[in-house]
Amino acid sequence: VKLHHRSVLLGDALRVFGGQRTPQGRRRIINRAQTPFAVILTVMLTLVLTDGTPENSLSWIVGSWAFVVAVTAAAYVVPWERHPEATGVILGAVDMTATAVITAAVAPLYPTIVAIQLLPALILAFSFGVVGTVVAVAGTFLTAFLPAASELARNTPHDIVEILIVPVMVTIVAVVTQFASRMLLRVQREYENVARVSENEQAVTMTVLNSLDVGTAFVRLDSSVGFTNTAFRALVERAGMDDETQAGTRVFAEDRVTPIPPEDQMMAQAARGEFFDSRLYVVGEPGNQITYLVTARPVVRADGERIGAAFVSKDVTELTDSLRVRDEFLSVVSHELRTPLTSIVGYLEIIEDDIDAEALGIAGYIDTVNRNVQQLQVRIADLLHVADPSLELHTTLVDVPALLQTSIDDIRPRATSASVDVVLAPHEPVTAVLDEPRMQQVMGNLLTNAVKYSRPDGEVRVEIAATPDQIEIAVADEGTGIADHELKHVFDRFYRTESARDAVIQGTGLGLAIVRDIVDAHGGEVVAESTVGVGSTFTVRLPLHAGV
Ligand code: ADP
Repeated sequence: VKLHHRSVLLGDALRVFGGQRTPQGRRRIINRAQTPFAVILTVMLTLVLTDGTPENSLSWIVGSWAFVVAVTAAAYVVPWERHPEATGVILGAVDMTATAVITAAVAPLYPTIVAIQLLPALILAFSFGVVGTVVAVAGTFLTAFLPAASELARNTPHDIVEILIVPVMVTIVAVVTQFASRMLLRVQREYENVARVSENEQAVTMTVLNSLDVGTAFVRLDSSVGFTNTAFRALVERAGMDDETQAGTRVFAEDRVTPIPPEDQMMAQAARGEFFDSRLYVVGEPGNQITYLVTARPVVRADGERIGAAFVSKDVTELTDSLRVRDEFLSVVSHELRTPLTSIVGYLEIIEDDIDAEALGIAGYIDTVNRNVQQLQVRIADLLHVADPSLELHTTLVDVPALLQTSIDDIRPRATSASVDVVLAPHEPVTAVLDEPRMQQVMGNLLTNAVKYSRPDGEVRVEIAATPDQIEIAVADEGTGIADHELKHVFDRFYRTESARDAVIQGTGLGLAIVRDIVDAHGGEVVAESTVGVGSTFTVRLPLHAGV
């Protein structure tokens, strides 16, 4: 920004002084140098003439003045762009000649009139390169010697030195001006190069950014917009964002209907220095909405100063739509399954009450049907939970070791048939305020996994540790273990590790997702640690008073 600022100033300076390289530049020289010169000359000559001048010089003075004025006027209509650059030097030469004639005519009365030549000399040296400088220097020398020429023979060395003072001074000024002009030109060229390079880079960057389907924007600290690409402008337009408040009237929360107030929208948050990763915004009129995943990051300069905020937005409508369809589908399917299942359970109970299964020799069958119906009930409950994960806790004071013991007893038959030993480690008595059935579900899922993924003859160990404000329950197994890259996904819905799928171990990939939801609802956390081939430990940490 600083560089840009400096360059603009420099560019302005160059535009004021230089620029003889272009037709417009040459016209600028007429405006800024030739016309003022003609005006100054007019004023000076008026002063001289009102003071009275020898009759015989008058025609020369007026003639030269008229010549300068005519050439200046003509210069306005000359199509400079059609002539070579050096043509402009003629203008300087005309001025030089006119001032020479005027000096020769007026010098006997006003010797200092020669100073008027400084103006055309400066124009020539500054704007017309070496040729201009030579014309300027030659002009002033000729002028100096013109009135003296006739009397040169009588001039003493002292007179000659006096005559030389002005042309030498003009020469020095002209040469210095010429160097200054060259330097300015060089700087101008460098500036143009830098400007071109940065312009090119900007063009490349903007083309790339505009062809992305990801939106990007940079907003400065003063809330002015640095840049936005096409995709981001689409978001701004759809949201109905107002330039001033930078808040949209059509920005909604994930539920698609609750409007997000202006102060909670992305721009306002970033302006307050609150940055975020991957937040969902539903944008647009209901029925024609797009869901964006937006990230806002601070933009910090190398010296550590924050200069604004960068936004990145991605259209995730398809993804969120398909997730919604999936959840709706799950909800419908699980409800549709539950109704006939309830009927089956009811009739099973009637059958068990009404007939003597033992006598009929079908007790085994009835048991199998019962077991499978129970399993189906659990799976459907899991699906229902996934379709609507909102949980309402009903907490009571729970004896935690007793709860764990019940869960262990429940899993025991399954563990035994898999030759896995489940033990509860020695512990102190602990009570906590929890939702007991939900926590039983958590322990049931963790223990089922520990047994299911255990090696034969392995041990599953349950430990309880309590601190003054939380309890920690760890379920450790000696099973297959989970690879690092899979470990971070095990709590995702429907996620199953490759080895579980390969080994055709039954499961839906919902158990751990439900565990996490329930633990979260209690205000706790669940973490997994694992080493492939050694075993896994799932640790649940819960506050002693859930929900407090
Ligand atoms: P699933 O119904 O497949 O068991 P979960 O959500 O309970 O679903 O677990 C997700 C995945 O995590 C499982 O498919 C399995 O690959 C892995 N996993 C869970 N617990 C263990 C464990 N104790 N040991 C090894 N892998 C496990």
